[in-house]
Amino acid sequence: MIVMKFGGTSVEDAAAISRLVEIVGRRVDKKPLIVVSALSGVTSDLYRISSLAPAGEDSGVAEMIKVIKERHLTVLNELIPENSPSKEEACSQIVRLADQLEEIVKVVGILSELSERSLARIVSHGELLSSTLIWGVLKERGYSCKYLDARQFIVTNNNYLKADPIVDIIKTRVPEIISPLAEQYDLLITQGFISSTADGINTVLGRGGSDYSASLLGMALGVREIEIWTDVDGVHTADPRYVKGTRSISELSFEEAAEMAYFGAKVLHPSTILPAIESGIPVRVLNSKRGDSPGTLILPRDKVSSAGVRAITFKEHISVLNIFSTRMLNAVGFLKKVFDLFEKHGISVDLISTSEVNVSVSLEQGVDLTGITKELSGFSSVTVRDDLSQVSVVGKDLRNTRGTCRRVFNALGDFKIYMISQGASEINLSFVVKRGDLPYVLQKMHSELFN
Ligand code: ADP
Ligand code: ASP
Ligand code: MG
Repeated sequence: MIVMKFGGTSVEDAAAISRLVEIVGRRVDKKPLIVVSALSGVTSDLYRISSLAPAGEDSGVAEMIKVIKERHLTVLNELIPENSPSKEEACSQIVRLADQLEEIVKVVGILSELSERSLARIVSHGELLSSTLIWGVLKERGYSCKYLDARQFIVTNNNYLKADPIVDIIKTRVPEIISPLAEQYDLLITQGFISSTADGINTVLGRGGSDYSASLLGMALGVREIEIWTDVDGVHTADPRYVKGTRSISELSFEEAAEMAYFGAKVLHPSTILPAIESGIPVRVLNSKRGDSPGTLILPRDKVSSAGVRAITFKEHISVLNIFSTRMLNAVGFLKKVFDLFEKHGISVDLISTSEVNVSVSLEQGVDLTGITKELSGFSSVTVRDDLSQVSVVGKDLRNTRGTCRRVFNALGDFKIYMISQGASEINLSFVVKRGDLPYVLQKMHSELFN
């Protein structure tokens, strides 16, 4: 078996779904399990609907749900001729899902309250709709195709919106349910992103979580390969949307890919690689618009030979917390005190750098820092900066690659650097720069390191 995951842009409209059908059709003999995201933009629409829903009927959410329903029905109409039985079935399922969504949103309006649990339920409809639509199309094209609800086997804790998978349960449920069906059908299709607790309450894996679903399914089934179909030719030397002249990387180790994801490369969900690493399953990132391009193959470290700089990643919006204390001088236990507070407040930090009287940490924005800064102020002076971005250079054995540092610092030239940190794993070198400088730093760093 193989797992084939199609992201939002790879299922965005009738043309994209036609390409999916063609790509899948060429791999039927490999017994694909297809994992789909919501049509591009739909998940964000659903989050928006959820945020408006508590305001009730005047919020315009019913109209927004109608637009989503029509979008799916239009694609279905474009792809399936009238009078096909699979069209009728898919059509009525889409209508049923849209009605159900409307009901839930109505209840949120009546209660004027949106719980995390209801929100998870609402945003799951993007993948429920897309998988139903694509299932209908595949059946109409003559494949025997089984629709599977991922909430039956992707089991998580009850952290509803960014749930942690319970791997032991997934490892038993997935083969139990899926393996016998793989024998009976040409194709199996299920949803990315969505999951449920052991007692059946709807959860989701967090934004971009469909990659994670694919990787969990691949692990549990022990598949030959996991294919991640997206809108770029594999993993590039930098995000092609922000940097000119990037190129696709042919091979990458799991560690490098994980580091890239963690340090901001949105091409893969940060947790995706782990289940695949643990089971040694290769992951291939491919372009659904160019089905014959080789993409990027992600392999165990010992199977990737070349060392050196691989890619540049960034996080545009970060905060840096500077903690000053003269008491830090020779004070045993100061860092422990500081990091115990981060643990207490459940805040995870990215980069850390220290001097004799100062500790700086970078963290993703969106975290409430009021509590921790108050407590830190009890024994130090604290400042927070929010106008900064983080750039990371990722690659194997960076420290031993001659000339890397010289070129990196050359590229940084006159830009002001707020923090520098080298990961202990030696596969990343990170800097914090002013947000306004980010595009220039990225482009200059890319030219210096790759041209
Ligand atoms: P999908 O909808 O298929 O999950 P995503 O939007 O999540 O797709 O991921 C693909 C996008 O990731 C690309 O369009 C690209 O802009 C972005 N990206 C960020 N960093 C990189 C990189 N280093 N290489 C390739 N793509 C990258
Ligand atoms: N549809 C979800 C999102 O947009 C999950 C995914 O696409 O991976 O975040
Ligand atoms: Mg994605």
